[in-house]
Amino acid sequence: MNKQLELLITLHDLDLMISEIAEMGQDVVELGFSTPNIEELQEQRVVLAAEFDQAVLGRYEALRKRYGRPVVPVTRGVCHGCFTTLPTSLTNASNSMIAQCENCGRFLYWLK
Ligand SMILES: [Zn+2]
Repeated sequence: MNKQLELLITLHDLDLMISEIAEMGQDVVELGFSTPNIEELQEQRVVLAAEFDQAVLGRYEALRKRYGRPVVPVTRGVCHGCFTTLPTSLTNASNSMIAQCENCGRFLYWLK
């Protein structure tokens, strides 16, 4: 898998975790569940962000502001962000490259 794509998927998971904890963190703590410490996750995020190609990271941040979920899987040629069938130019794309949906602009990865 393309290294930047791998980083994108990892950062995406981390961001989803951070926002979930930010939303319900305090309640969960009060219920006695142990959740990852949000400051630690944010530190991990800084470390991860430093490994990125800055142009890719910039696009990711812009898409995250717009959609919340900027990295989505493709199954059967359909983008799972906007549910549009991808054009044939992307049918042969794979996880060895960074691809974006031509309709919504989200980063794409292929589930095998
Ligand atoms: Zn799309």
